[in-house]
Amino acid sequence: IMRATIRPVGKPGQLRSALVFFEDVTQQRTADQSRNLFVAQATHELRTPLTNIGLYLERAIDLDDDETADRAECLNVINQEVLRLGRVVEEVLSVSEIEAGSLKVRHDDVRVDQIMQSLEHEYQPQAREKDIDLLFDLPPKLSVVQGDREKITLALHNLLGNAIKYTPAEGKVRVQLLEVDNDITVSVTDTGIGINEDELSKVFEKFYRAQDDRLQGIGGSGLGLALARDVIRLHGGDITVESELNKGSTFTLRLPINAAVSST
Ligand code: ADP
Repeated sequence: IMRATIRPVGKPGQLRSALVFFEDVTQQRTADQSRNLFVAQATHELRTPLTNIGLYLERAIDLDDDETADRAECLNVINQEVLRLGRVVEEVLSVSEIEAGSLKVRHDDVRVDQIMQSLEHEYQPQAREKDIDLLFDLPPKLSVVQGDREKITLALHNLLGNAIKYTPAEGKVRVQLLEVDNDITVSVTDTGIGINEDELSKVFEKFYRAQDDRLQGIGGSGLGLALARDVIRLHGGDITVESELNKGSTFTLRLPINAAVSST
């Protein structure tokens, strides 16, 4: 995309010639477009949990005093949606921090086994709702990793959330946590829709969502994996993927135990 600017040469009133400057503004336009897309998608991602919170709050308010089971269910949904809202806000913030080069990584003692236990607890109800068989294979105790607990948790959330999201009802999701040599690895294998071979490397790009009609009814910003990989790479680790269309995918997160954590 070229932008032309015309500058007259000579004194006013005696215009003889003009200079025409051409400038390539493709990059700027693309950046503008992706920013607009980002705002639209982020807004959508924020609106969905907000709508659900509103609906379930109304329902809870209308319940009679003795309908305690229904009230508990409403509160549970509201709680899940508040957590989701928090994660979206966190994602949006982290993306802008990464872009500005100012993302800070904390140095906590991180117990990945404990994070996985709480994720298991959190995702079982969602899996049950979709009739997905969610299996966690967790060793009793693992080494402690130095890093940013919140960001590592967010990355793991993304892998697990995607596996459930992109696996149709009655499928299977298997999560395996291992400590091998100086790495902790978490692999998430699903029997979901899978990813086309030529799109495999693109799923880690910001805003990228696969060209698959089956994605139409499924919400998403295309930010989760980009962010997850950036964050894990800041810990000296990586996230990789293997997949076969219509068969399923395996995402593997590797985290070095003695990570030299770096900031952007
Ligand atoms: P989204 O918000 O769209 O889920 P992500 O960055 O998490 O964004 O994922 C990017 C894209 O990668 C998704 O839109 C989807 O096309 C594909 N993808 C991610 N995880 C899976 C999976 N487990 N199975 C199939 N496709 C997946």
